[in-house]
Amino acid sequence: VLERPRMKNLRHLGSLLASAAATCIFGVAIYSATQAHTGRTSPPGYDDTPVLPGQKWRVHDIKRPHPPVVTPGTESSQARPGRPPSDAIVLFDGRNLGNWLAHGKGKDKNKAVAPGWKVEKGYMQVVGGTGALFSKQKFGDCQLHVEWAAPPRIEGSGQWRGNSGVLLMDRYEIQVLDSYDNPTYADGQAGAIYGQWPPLVNASRKPGEWQTFDIVFEAPRFEGDKLVKPAFATVFQNGVLLHHRQQIIGRMAHKVVGTYAPHAPEEPLGLQDHDTPVRYRNIWVRRVKGYDQQ
Ligand code: MG
Repeated sequence: VLERPRMKNLRHLGSLLASAAATCIFGVAIYSATQAHTGRTSPPGYDDTPVLPGQKWRVHDIKRPHPPVVTPGTESSQARPGRPPSDAIVLFDGRNLGNWLAHGKGKDKNKAVAPGWKVEKGYMQVVGGTGALFSKQKFGDCQLHVEWAAPPRIEGSGQWRGNSGVLLMDRYEIQVLDSYDNPTYADGQAGAIYGQWPPLVNASRKPGEWQTFDIVFEAPRFEGDKLVKPAFATVFQNGVLLHHRQQIIGRMAHKVVGTYAPHAPEEPLGLQDHDTPVRYRNIWVRRVKGYDQQ
């Protein structure tokens, strides 16, 4: 009876030794594996592999050009906008409207005039009735980042609550609206391809909070007066997918079906003046080129 605890201890010691040995062997195994993994190399490419269908390149083609290097940007917070990627064209960095013009009204109709929107505290704000803005630079296929905030003080409802819009090529509208607990027709809420497609979901933040649109836009193609390829848009609001390469029916229109009319391959980026004090900050664009271009 007295021997039993000692036996138990001995058995315990045995299993301890066994596990120590196992740990040791395991450790040596990891160590040698690590040693074996250092200095491994792979060929920089191949010239004897099959040619990819529809491409002029082979699988892992050694001659295929390397894509340009881009330093990624940083995320935005409510307090401050993030940094754009290194190859972005910055259209608004919070300081001034030097990259923008406005569509004139009244006697200045069809003329470009100086923007009447105000710039303060790192954002621009719509001054109702002064006219929509459009960028001096023109764009076709592009990746676009826009940050916006609906007015913190709620005035009006439906389409009269924080209405503005991102006008791709100055005519295809991704709706900006305060859609936080503010019902309106689905194809007119925030992120809608206005009058055509509602967003897949409502990913709206509260009025006054900064929101992001990340848009990948494919410009329409015309041959003479004929549309040969419509426009497409992929849209994320606050990182949430709203449209997945959705075909655009035509230019923005209210209460009618928008249609296409021929225009240049590149047009300005527009921001709508819908007479509500929407704010914008951190607007940048990257031109989207094809594969294998440097
Ligand atoms: Mg609008």
